[in-house]
Amino acid sequence: MNRIDLHLHTTHSDGSFTTSEVMAFAKEAGVTALAITDHDIVDGIPEAMAAGALLNIEVIPGVEISSRYGESELHILGYFLDWTDATLNQRMMTLRDSRHTRNPQIVGKLNELGIDLTYEEVRSLAGTESVGRPHIARVLMNKGVVISAKEAFDRYLADGRPAYVPRELPKPEEAVAWIRAAGGVPVLAHPTWVKQSREGLDRLVEQLKAFGLGGIEVHYSTHSPRQTEDYLSLAKRLDLLVTGGSDFHGVTKPDIAVGRGRGDLKVPERLLDPLRKAASAG
Ligand SMILES: [Zn+2]
Ligand SMILES: [Zn+2]
Repeated sequence: MNRIDLHLHTTHSDGSFTTSEVMAFAKEAGVTALAITDHDIVDGIPEAMAAGALLNIEVIPGVEISSRYGESELHILGYFLDWTDATLNQRMMTLRDSRHTRNPQIVGKLNELGIDLTYEEVRSLAGTESVGRPHIARVLMNKGVVISAKEAFDRYLADGRPAYVPRELPKPEEAVAWIRAAGGVPVLAHPTWVKQSREGLDRLVEQLKAFGLGGIEVHYSTHSPRQTEDYLSLAKRLDLLVTGGSDFHGVTKPDIAVGRGRGDLKVPERLLDPLRKAASAG
């Protein structure tokens, strides 16, 4: 049975391997179809398609959009979308900018608390465009303000701590609508991350379905067999499509491999056609 992987990150967002490297890993793993689903960006898709043509791997246009649900983030995957859609790209650019304005605000709050650091120091330590709180934590460690990244989060950076700045994110139903507007199928990513009771998750999925949610990511690297069964029955009950992927990031999640997750992931190829049909039915 052939395997697919509909959840992969590259250096276009927070993955550590380039699109071409990820494509080569997919070939090695025997993946026949995949989606590059970088956070709030689709720039890896053309390179993936070119590599896919050479490697005989089908590349499904994909994305993973960040949204805010209560106090936490909720991710909505999008498949078979028109990734060149101008409105979608404009919306995602605004979303990415919100990350850039947030980090200087965090540094400002730390300064107000009497901690001497600059955003320049954070950026040069990060050495990448996607600067985040882990980089700020490392600067705090280097300066001896804290002894560990955990202490940096516990004392300053975590939600509810004095230097916390929430990111401006769309609501989950907005992310769903953005993907629909670009002709794609929106899918709830990794339901295991949703900070809700089981009943809360059911209600959330039902609500999002009313806004156009098309599927649930049932097969996922860290889902236990029991969770997979559970999410599968939820998808069946609400007549939602089933998808799956590894959420490969490279070095930041070293135990997760393209196509194989922690070794026991196998996303069946037969899930693809229903997804394709749902997209073209629009
Ligand atoms: Zn995610
Ligand atoms: Zn992801």
